[in-house]
Amino acid sequence: MIPGETPIWLAALAGGAAMTAMVAARYFLTSGVFAFATQRRRPGLYAGLGVQIAREIRWSMLAALIYGAPTGLIIWGWRHHGWTQIYSDWSAHSLWYLPLSVFLYLVVQDSWFYWSHRAMHRPRLFRLAHAVHHASRPPTVWTAMSFHPIEAASGAIVIPILVFFVPIHIAMLGVVLIVASVMGVTNHMGWEIFPRWLVHSRLGGWLITASHHERHHEEYRCNYGLYFRFWDRVCGTDRGLSLRIVADAEAHRRSAQGVRA
Ligand SMILES: [Zn+2]
Ligand SMILES: [Zn+2]
Repeated sequence: MIPGETPIWLAALAGGAAMTAMVAARYFLTSGVFAFATQRRRPGLYAGLGVQIAREIRWSMLAALIYGAPTGLIIWGWRHHGWTQIYSDWSAHSLWYLPLSVFLYLVVQDSWFYWSHRAMHRPRLFRLAHAVHHASRPPTVWTAMSFHPIEAASGAIVIPILVFFVPIHIAMLGVVLIVASVMGVTNHMGWEIFPRWLVHSRLGGWLITASHHERHHEEYRCNYGLYFRFWDRVCGTDRGLSLRIVADAEAHRRSAQGVRA
């Protein structure tokens, strides 16, 4: 814990280093868990991708520094100097505000991602920054944070800015970060982890999972969203699900039924 009277530059440095380590640990833990699940459920899916995965991990470590560096300072400022609208008293706002705040954060993050992601597909920005993320062909669980520093910075500013303006309970901020981590990894995993009844439901038609994001990696100029298909559908950039992932899920469902019968 960094004391409140620490000079701001030292708090930024020490807090940034600690948060970078935490972001990196979160990456290895989340991607590691789903890499293990992939090994069990789709053995051989990442065969021959060792060089690509090593590159993804290197870019992700650089991204961890960019995500972590500002966060350490913000947490120190929140704890000791009352910066930010983060609160820890459950009675500070109504209970109904807890899920609403999570939803608001996800919607803002999703909207920012959609429009910045579309901009990154313009040729100059693509070559400069976004090509790093698309060098993963096909994506793997390790692609989740594989971003060029410019793209990592554009993603890293959203929540640090939001916490200054939109109140959120510290636990709900944790929920937002868990959703971001899990969806970031599973969307790149190369197979669908969510059940068919959700993916192919009415609600599923508004949510982004691997079946949707994989198509972005297959075709580039469609399916730009992060969590929700709202902007893609409104702007006519939604091309539906990846045929490969849907067929793979169907084949596995059939073989599981065959084994049970
Ligand atoms: Zn991606
Ligand atoms: Zn893209």
